[in-house]
Amino acid sequence: MIVDFIWKRRREVLFSVRELSQFAVCPLLFLREKVMPRKRSKEMERGAILHNEAYQRHRERAVEMSVEEAVERSHEERMVGREIWLDNGVLGGYADLVIIENRKATVIELKSSERSARWPGAAVQALGYAVLLSPLVKEVKAAVATFDGRLFWERKVREGERDFVEGALRRMWKSVLEGLFKPSPGPHCLSCPYRKTCPVFKEGDGIILEVGVSGHGRRQL
Ligand code: SF4
Repeated sequence: MIVDFIWKRRREVLFSVRELSQFAVCPLLFLREKVMPRKRSKEMERGAILHNEAYQRHRERAVEMSVEEAVERSHEERMVGREIWLDNGVLGGYADLVIIENRKATVIELKSSERSARWPGAAVQALGYAVLLSPLVKEVKAAVATFDGRLFWERKVREGERDFVEGALRRMWKSVLEGLFKPSPGPHCLSCPYRKTCPVFKEGDGIILEVGVSGHGRRQL
């Protein structure tokens, strides 16, 4: 049997998982999102609608229970949660989709398009939530998928993944204390909404980036 559950009891935290993902991709991107958030793009609007529709459908049949309770019940039933609040007092946020079976969990970050699923921050988001859930379960996997069910990335959380999330969190805290947010250029700049005003890209002065990893070859920005 499948049991749908929700847990939305939010606590105050220092940083959200979303902020961590922005910082891990580029500290300057994180700063810009923080101090001058952009207007929602059409893709973001679409994503918000899809999230809301999925959550409303889920909520009609879901029972409210803590994540600890869901983990306990996962011995007998497959537990499926949407928009599940996870935190460790410092880092926190709502995980899109959490599936727990026999104390083994998969945390899925859902995206509205292939483009946003391939953004490196999506994997960091999935990892962040999975690391937050890891003390409660026997095993946890992080994944990124689109709403139409295509899986783009998956990783079992081990020591290395925990270290990565904790390291990013430490670097973010240090940056905030020092007020230093260095740009970190890479293939992700192709889809950065702040590229036009980024100091890395002077007007008319393109930077060649190797973006072969995403299968698009070399491109000039
Ligand atoms: S263009 Fe690249 S380096 Fe500049 S803010 Fe955006 S992600 Fe960072």
